[in-house]
Amino acid sequence: MITEKELQPHKNKYHLNGFSIEDIGDDHLFTGLETPLKPDAFKMSDTDKKQRIAVLFEEIMDVMGLDLTDDSLKGTPDRVAKMYIDEIFSGLNPANKPKIALFDNKYQYNQMLVEKNITLYSNCEHHFVPIFGKAHVAYISSGKVIGLSKLNRIVQYYAKRPQVQERLTNQIAEELKHILGTEDVAVIIDAKHLCVSSRGIKDESSATVTSYYGGKFGTPEKIAELQNYLKD
Ligand SMILES: [Zn+2]
Repeated sequence: MITEKELQPHKNKYHLNGFSIEDIGDDHLFTGLETPLKPDAFKMSDTDKKQRIAVLFEEIMDVMGLDLTDDSLKGTPDRVAKMYIDEIFSGLNPANKPKIALFDNKYQYNQMLVEKNITLYSNCEHHFVPIFGKAHVAYISSGKVIGLSKLNRIVQYYAKRPQVQERLTNQIAEELKHILGTEDVAVIIDAKHLCVSSRGIKDESSATVTSYYGGKFGTPEKIAELQNYLKD
C-alpha cells in the first residue's frame, strides 16, 4: 500500500493553478512558453535513452498482456524508442535545432511574406497521441530575410516535442521574432487532436485554431489581409 505521505510529492507536482490533476481531467492546460524539461534532460546520451525506453516500453506491452515473442511485436519496443528519440520527439534536444542563415532583403520587399499550409505533425503531451494539421507563418522583414524552407524547419523542430497547441504556436512565433529581429510575425495553427477525435469526447470533425499576431500584425487590417491570403 502507498501511504498518504508517499503520495504527497506526486500530488503537489501535479497541482496546477489551484486545480488538481483530477479536476483538469481531459482539459488541456497550458502552463508556460517553455517546454517543461528537467535541468539534466540531456545528460544521458541518445543511445542510452533509446535502450532505456525500449526496456520500459516492453514492460508496458508486457503488462497489457501482449506476447513479445510474437514476430510482429518483438521489434516494437526498439522501434518505438528509436522513433521517440530520433524522430517524433527529436525537437526536445536543442542540438537538433535547425541552423538558420539570414540574407539581406535585396529586393526591398517590405510587405508581408506568408508561408502557408506547412504540414504539421506533433503529439499531445497529455495523451501522447498525434496532433496533425497545417501551420501558416508570416513575417514582415526588418531588413533580413530567411530561406523559405527554414520556416518549415522551425515549425517541424518545435512540433517534434510532446506539445500543447498554444505553446507550439507561441514557441514558433518567439523563435521567428528572435531570428528575424522583429516583432512583426504571425503564426496560425489549424490542427486536429486525436485525443479529442478518437477517444474521450469523440468529436471527429472539430479542429483547434490558435494564432499569434505580433507587432504590425496586431491590426484588424493586417489580420484581414493575412486571412485573405490563407483562403484556398
Ligand atoms: Zn490530449
